[in-house]
Amino acid sequence: DIPHAAPTEVKRTICSHCAVGCGIYAEVQNGVWTGQEPAFDHPFNQGGHCAKGASLRYHTHSHKRVKYPMKLEGGKWKRLSWDDAINEIGDKMLDIKQTSGPDSVYFMGSAKFSNEGAYLYRKLAAMWGTNNVDHSARICHSTTVAGVANTWGYGAQTNSFNDIRNAKNIFIIGANPAEAHPVAMQHILTAKERGATITVADPRFSRTMAHADVHLPLRPGTDIPLVYGLMWHIFENGWEDKDFIRTRAWGMDKIREEAKRWTPEEVENVTGVSREAVYAAAKHMAHHRPGTVIWCMGGTQHHVGNGNTRIYSILQLVLGNMGVQGGGTNIFRGHDNVQGATDMGLLFDNLPGYYGVTTGAWEHWARVWDLPFDQVKGRFDATPYLGRDPMTTPGIPCSRWHDGVLEDKEKLAQKDNVRLAFFWGQSVNTETRQMEVRDALDKLETIVVVDPYPTMAAVMHRRQEGVYILPAATQFECEGSVNNSGRSAQWRQQVVEPVFESKNDLEIMYRLAAKVGIADTLTKHIKVEGNMPSPDDIMREYAKGMRSIGYTGWSPERIKAHTMNWGDFSPETLEAPGGVNKGETYGLPWPCWGTPEQKHPGTQILYRTDRNVNQGGGNFRARFGVEFEGESILAEDSASVGAEIQDGYPQFDDVMLKQLGWWDELSAEEKALAENRTWATDLGGGIVRVALAHNMIPYGNAKARCRVWTFPDEIPMHREPLYTPRRDLIAKYPTHDDMQVHRLPTLYKTLQDKV
Ligand code: SF4
Repeated sequence: DIPHAAPTEVKRTICSHCAVGCGIYAEVQNGVWTGQEPAFDHPFNQGGHCAKGASLRYHTHSHKRVKYPMKLEGGKWKRLSWDDAINEIGDKMLDIKQTSGPDSVYFMGSAKFSNEGAYLYRKLAAMWGTNNVDHSARICHSTTVAGVANTWGYGAQTNSFNDIRNAKNIFIIGANPAEAHPVAMQHILTAKERGATITVADPRFSRTMAHADVHLPLRPGTDIPLVYGLMWHIFENGWEDKDFIRTRAWGMDKIREEAKRWTPEEVENVTGVSREAVYAAAKHMAHHRPGTVIWCMGGTQHHVGNGNTRIYSILQLVLGNMGVQGGGTNIFRGHDNVQGATDMGLLFDNLPGYYGVTTGAWEHWARVWDLPFDQVKGRFDATPYLGRDPMTTPGIPCSRWHDGVLEDKEKLAQKDNVRLAFFWGQSVNTETRQMEVRDALDKLETIVVVDPYPTMAAVMHRRQEGVYILPAATQFECEGSVNNSGRSAQWRQQVVEPVFESKNDLEIMYRLAAKVGIADTLTKHIKVEGNMPSPDDIMREYAKGMRSIGYTGWSPERIKAHTMNWGDFSPETLEAPGGVNKGETYGLPWPCWGTPEQKHPGTQILYRTDRNVNQGGGNFRARFGVEFEGESILAEDSASVGAEIQDGYPQFDDVMLKQLGWWDELSAEEKALAENRTWATDLGGGIVRVALAHNMIPYGNAKARCRVWTFPDEIPMHREPLYTPRRDLIAKYPTHDDMQVHRLPTLYKTLQDKV
């Protein structure tokens, strides 16, 4: 019934597929998302987007969407009304709270939430009375947050995507932006066109590496010795920034001492990278300044992820690359709102603004919420477990939620095991120890999946009942703000109404809160219309409370004014480090101090060094040096959150091993283990042995990496990348076209004409 040539409405939205945050024009006709174009006047993507971004509108058309609430009953999925679903889930929550305490409900959240969704979800868990809340950053960049925050203060990217254009040298380690963040790659290539040198460290030969001047094909897990190897040359040749170190960096003597151990021979032995390549990379870094370091999950998803991110940061201190345009650490996040969800305290050990869960933190937020502290405390169980106060004891991290279900409850810092778990925008298939995950899903009393799609959490168990799926609207059926990697906020306009019976996350949270009797405190100063809390009011509330990282200058009006007005572009805008909008840094990257009325312009570059330390200029601690010792790489404070993640083993089973052609090389005992899917916790040795014989190191295997250290003689020396399947293809297309970025010729021409 759609009339021919219905008028087109254009909405401004933000791509949800990575944390570059590209602007998209969405064309809507009669309420249907009919077309889209990359925003030619958007400061970050400037008329381009990648293949992932080009697929956005299919979220609202997909036949795979969950259409209505459902529950599993007698092995069959049964349709439910929203009222019934909320009532049944709420009754189960109340029953569990009564008998086991609030910690027996786990709130798994997501970096796909808007800032407002993430904040309200954290607050929902707080009002319920638990710190058992977390999200996908735990298995992506939490090691970065711990590593960089402990080196220089904020757990965030220091510069911006646009600013990469100003770099004279770019060191990319554990990242493949040509495929994962293609629009960011455009900024990298612009820097290269302007003369920047590029070094890429990656065990694989990637599309990004095809553009590098120097390749460092390191063995997985040897980042720390590789970077010490770079420093060895830098110190040996006197290339370090002595003035910067003298005035701003503390603890560098210890780093210098440690670097002495990493001679070219030793580094070559351990990392497999030739000494010539390491020297060439160090020389580029020393002679092309300022330089930036870019990393992504190839650096963080390690048992020593904290240590990796610290050593990358310390390298920047050695080179004096901090606090300047073209320098810093540009840390590419995965999901679109990893930065925002983390800022919002969607973490088992934090409240919004990284305040922790100390009594002082709770007092602060109780004041912001305008609630008596005792009332908030009263929501937590009054019983201290293992001598710990449930309110100030961190909850269970996302990577360990299954321990909370399977563990002997005497070991848990809570009264009982987890009995009901929400998987809200986050599933389970990225976790290690999939066998335990499945056992835990089986053992839970109730699983509640809230998602636009039926995820693995809803289906990978062996149960007949006790599973609910609630259809959540996608980002494009709601409005709200989202932070890109560069700390900039953008407001997403709602493109279409929620499809089928799906609902906005905020509404689902509110309805659950109303059912379990905590809605009044959840939304005390947040306007609610028709069960929908106002995202504008939510932003006002969290901005007021997040003084710690400078959110106080934000307001929905200011953020919307930026996003709704991309069209202020000029050569200055396009060249500005963070993109500029009417004299302010686009998206008001935090810290944005003061009040909204005071109009702080946002902070493009953290820790500026054009000011003295006593005037607020950057000063840094290299005190978290990282060392290699024995079988493992030690990082001071390695017990912090980052080390919690990814300490698993490769999840190889018999099927995969047969596909790889490795089956015959396993012993009978190892085969039996593999057939029983005992995964690699017990199988590790055999897998590592066979994998090494095939010149491969199992991806994500901490023990394997440690064995690299312990048994270097067992490992064949590689002078070639370990994995080269696409080399020919990449060599054939080493151009911009290869980056999967689609430019709109007409719009781009218009843009050029206008400029
Ligand atoms: Fe989306 Fe691609 Fe831009 Fe990332 S680079 S935000 S996936 S269009």
